[in-house]
Amino acid sequence: MTTMLLGGTVVTGLHPAEVVTGDVVIEGDRIAAVGPPPAGTSGMALIDCRGCLVIPGNVCAHTHAYSALARGMPYRLAPPRDFVEVLRRVWWRLDRALDEESIRASARVAAMEALLAGTTTLVDHHASPGAIDGSLDILAEEFGRLGLRSVLAYETTDRDGPGHARAGLDENRRFLDRVAATRPPLARGLVGAHASFTLSDTTLERCVDLARASGTGLHVHVAEDAADERDAEAAHGLSVLARLERAGGLDPASVLAHGVHLDRSEAALFRASGATLVHNPRSNMNNAVGRAPLDLLGPRIALGTDGIGADMLEESRVGYLRHLEDRHGAAADEGEVLRGPGSAGSTDPAWPLARLAIGARRVGDAFDEPSFGRVVAGAPADLVVLDYPAPTPLTAGTLAGHWTFGLSARAVRDVIVAGRVVVRERRLTAVDQDAIAADARPVAARLWERLDTIAEHSFAPGEVMVG
Ligand SMILES: [Zn+2]
Repeated sequence: MTTMLLGGTVVTGLHPAEVVTGDVVIEGDRIAAVGPPPAGTSGMALIDCRGCLVIPGNVCAHTHAYSALARGMPYRLAPPRDFVEVLRRVWWRLDRALDEESIRASARVAAMEALLAGTTTLVDHHASPGAIDGSLDILAEEFGRLGLRSVLAYETTDRDGPGHARAGLDENRRFLDRVAATRPPLARGLVGAHASFTLSDTTLERCVDLARASGTGLHVHVAEDAADERDAEAAHGLSVLARLERAGGLDPASVLAHGVHLDRSEAALFRASGATLVHNPRSNMNNAVGRAPLDLLGPRIALGTDGIGADMLEESRVGYLRHLEDRHGAAADEGEVLRGPGSAGSTDPAWPLARLAIGARRVGDAFDEPSFGRVVAGAPADLVVLDYPAPTPLTAGTLAGHWTFGLSARAVRDVIVAGRVVVRERRLTAVDQDAIAADARPVAARLWERLDTIAEHSFAPGEVMVG
């Protein structure tokens, strides 16, 4: 099957920005050519992209699809006073209320909303303590049904006891073995781990061993809240990242979420490690956990939503504007290097494009596709067509301005993942998108009923000690 995107303005790379006008020819699951039209177009499916902007599919580098049915859910406990109480009273109740039906409905809703927003890959961190075994298969199946690409992990943790910790680890192992054996076209795995403060040394070591044995990395929350750092110091005499490094879990394959409370020495460890850190600005604002020290972290910072949908244009805009505001009056004490082009401390308008390119690079590593995230011959065909008749000149030099101040998910018209057209004229092609929402509502109602009967989680930092 050959598809041609005809006559669009094509962003062939996000960072450095590259823009050409021409056609994109897709054969099978990859891009065959970009540029002037081939001699004959007979037999090709043509998509008219004149007046449109064609971009690489966006990557959400950290999310939790299991939270897709949380919006509006009941809450009758005392208001949480800090982040750990948010977990104990909200998310660690919701995850225990999940069953197969609600995982499936959450996955469908999350995938639909991602694709319609122009996000073609989710790097997901899943938790469902009441339904662990097979949960990653459910996500892979539902994401795959809609045509979404994903990198999946189960959130291993000791907070629900040793049996659950083993089951979480087993689910990661089972899924990674399956991926290695079958190489599914749209799914890969990481080893999911919750966060230092809910992981014993033994469980953390097992996660690291599994990542090594399966040739992948950890996907773990680090220093999202100061409580994670306090616990690591009190229980282990180490910072969160020093503990992760000691366990062997800090390497180029690691995907670290948040890093809000990393200090200077941890930032140096991170920069030397080759790992990717995922910045989730809207989630950090929502949880009032603080502001990530972007100035200290160097270039390898991707963007995620942490479960607040998967609209990366929105996350780009909010993250960049918040970053600019943070820079107001900041001392220039770290010098040029950490604020140089491409680095997360830079206030260059290309900041969001650099962040998204880093997320795409990490996904490319997972799929063994070095050109992933670019619109070039040979790259996987993950593309988004935006109905965006640019009102000012759109070139490589102006793309960043359009990205922050012009583009939005409303402009997403067509989406292609691995060569398959999965959104056409703003509608999912594989399934009835109205049915996804309609079918999810009663499932959400049942989920909320169960949730209402689940008490605040009793786990508190300091309970998982060295053992
Ligand atoms: Zn998260």
